[in-house]
Amino acid sequence: MIDSHAHLDFSQYDLDREEVIREDFENGIEAVVNIGVDLETSRKSIELAEKYTHIYATVGIHPHDSGNAPKDYLAQLEKLASHKKVVAIGEIGLDYYRDHSPRDIQRKAFEQQLELALELDMPVVIHIREAIEDSFKILEKSGVRNGVLHSFPGDEIEARKALEMGFFISFAGPITYPRSSRVDVAASLPLSRIVVETDAPYLTPQAFRGKRNRPSYVRYVIGKLAEIFEPYTFEDMERITSHNARRLFGLPFEKLPQIVYKIRHSLYINLTNRCSSNCYFCPRSGSTDGFVSGHYLFLRKEPSVKEVLEAVERESGFDEVVFCGLGEPTIRLKEMLEIAENLKIKGHKIRLNTNGHGSLINKIDLPLRLLGKVDRVSVSLNAQDADTYVEICKPDRGRESFNAMIEFVKGCKKTGIETVVSVVDLPEIDLEACRKLASDLGVNLRIRRYTEDNRRIVA
Ligand code: SF4
Repeated sequence: MIDSHAHLDFSQYDLDREEVIREDFENGIEAVVNIGVDLETSRKSIELAEKYTHIYATVGIHPHDSGNAPKDYLAQLEKLASHKKVVAIGEIGLDYYRDHSPRDIQRKAFEQQLELALELDMPVVIHIREAIEDSFKILEKSGVRNGVLHSFPGDEIEARKALEMGFFISFAGPITYPRSSRVDVAASLPLSRIVVETDAPYLTPQAFRGKRNRPSYVRYVIGKLAEIFEPYTFEDMERITSHNARRLFGLPFEKLPQIVYKIRHSLYINLTNRCSSNCYFCPRSGSTDGFVSGHYLFLRKEPSVKEVLEAVERESGFDEVVFCGLGEPTIRLKEMLEIAENLKIKGHKIRLNTNGHGSLINKIDLPLRLLGKVDRVSVSLNAQDADTYVEICKPDRGRESFNAMIEFVKGCKKTGIETVVSVVDLPEIDLEACRKLASDLGVNLRIRRYTEDNRRIVA
């Protein structure tokens, strides 16, 4: 778990700071971003970051403190920001609820620090309270497009606007309070843009409300998100929010290619990164980082049958095994069938997620070969007609690939394998026409959400 926003330098920890940090790192915390709110706390944050490998610091002047900032505060912040453990400018923003500093001074300090972040090419940590309209105006004008809105106070429309500007949205303890409006806001967001925090010592989750907060309590926020995004599990939300925090703050990534990986209650097999399509939304394409839902899927070499079976053996707590990964599994048909046969003997349920080109690639009647080895097939339909398909998926064999995919769906249906088709809700796709096509084929249609920022849709 990564707590993306805490104030461990505050006096509430003066008596037991070391103990809290040690215990929380022993209790599942991977990293903490300690947030500066003025020059003194920015320096203290850096001191903590120097002392603990997995604590990082931010430097900034909070709107409450903007009225007291010295004249040369920007030069001082710039100097502090050059420290190698400083990962963002913040906490900056506007607070019209408490109005501890005059509003014009708050706005000026916010604008100036955004300018500094832009110059230094650093993300920002933004505090907004009762000042969304002015904050968004300033943010839009600033050109800063990298950062996080801490303990997001807005509604769904405002959250959407923040996403469009490029920001992450952070949730803290208040999302765990009874009837919290933040639940609906979170549910409306793509998982790839959510981070979690404690704001410790403040904003303690419901389970300990009224007591001092601490980084390990971020698990209650993660737990709430897992409830909201069910069937995603706590482990999914933990991994995804940690990955998001690493992307946001540029923290070190461990890039260990996953042969098998769990999402929700399924175990996925990453057999190959090769594919007979080049869908523009695919995480394989372009400049993506190779992560899908927090799992790193760029293989250094394709795994052998033995390696896959051993990797599956090591896992537990899943309902089905899915051939999927970052590539088209039927490109390695021989290995895929051998693995499926072995897993079937052990009583596993098997699903194949495919682009439907398997018969064309292998020059065989694939549905017949799948019989008895695969229980369910999910085919990426991805378009209502061949022209749109070619435009979106750029398959190796053009329109022929679309026709082969349709024939594959018909073949699976005919052999009695449970078959669904899926589309991603891209603007080019006519969902009604896809519904009709699926119904003509006699199969169910699954519509998947497209989020451009992380291209997390995989066939
Ligand atoms: S989305 Fe699936 S079918 Fe499309 S290129 Fe990626 S792996 Fe291949």
